[in-house]
Amino acid sequence: YDLNPGETLGIVGESGCGKSVHAMSILRLIPNPPGKIVGGEILFQGKEMKEPVDLTRIPEQKIRRLRGNRIAMIFQEPVTSLNPVLTVGEQIAEVIRHHEGAGFEEAEKRATGLLERVGIANAAKRIHDYPHSFSGGMRQRAMIAMALAMKPDILIADEPTTALDVTVQAQILKLIRDMQNDYNMAVILITHNMGVVAEIANKVIVMYAGRPAETAEVKQIFSHPRHPYTWGLLNSIPKLNQRSEKLIPIEGQPPNLSHNDPGCLFAPRCLYAWADCRLMAPTLLETEKTQMASCWLHDPEKRRQAPASQVQEARKNGLL
Ligand code: SF4
Repeated sequence: YDLNPGETLGIVGESGCGKSVHAMSILRLIPNPPGKIVGGEILFQGKEMKEPVDLTRIPEQKIRRLRGNRIAMIFQEPVTSLNPVLTVGEQIAEVIRHHEGAGFEEAEKRATGLLERVGIANAAKRIHDYPHSFSGGMRQRAMIAMALAMKPDILIADEPTTALDVTVQAQILKLIRDMQNDYNMAVILITHNMGVVAEIANKVIVMYAGRPAETAEVKQIFSHPRHPYTWGLLNSIPKLNQRSEKLIPIEGQPPNLSHNDPGCLFAPRCLYAWADCRLMAPTLLETEKTQMASCWLHDPEKRRQAPASQVQEARKNGLL
């Protein structure tokens, strides 16, 4: 996929679909062993760079200079990401000192400004507090301040609102959006919450079993999902404007990726699967401009082999 300045890409899928592993790979944070990047490329061109670099291949020293500087990350649980034995201010200032070589005083002054910018009241005093004396929402704000200290080109937000209540969640999303506008950053937002995606993303990748099941503009995903998995995800969310007895869950679990199955990995859970689906894995097929789905239903040749009732059902549900 491509990501331009100012854009927000939402990556959605159930737990275990590879969303976080994908994000960690961008910054080469996958522990090796057991993890390993075996192929592909991630081309990154920051605002001040003449040409793109492949993040999967540049030396460790270079990627360290990009981490937390040009590409920053915020995590789901700030309480486990912040260091409990350093004050919040020390942790934000450390980023500035490390990447810019700023002195203690200068770094602390900027850290205070950042805490103010992310909405922490009485920042000059709170900067000397330890993370345990911050609430969950304040800790996440402090994480955002730390991530944005160097005005990065890309912010990766891995489930940034999952541990927060709904009101604080809305505030944090607004803060990310405001900061994105200020810095013209690209944002990669990883979440299992379709509501969060609808709120903030421009385009979406629905991931399943470590691969993209569907990619589309955000409106297309909600109005015309073209992959049975996306359709299932949307149908398992309660809708305020529809009264129904029961939600329709996606039965089963994501597959174990250590079993090298040849077919579509969603087949055991798919309502439309037929014999061909189990023989060969589909690739991303264009369904509309800016929308692609990894499903044989969108290959006219393959679809001819599918039982008519399945195709009819897929049409009825808007997948075709
Ligand atoms: Fe379902 Fe077959 Fe499409 Fe896979 S390829 S999502 S099993 S219909």
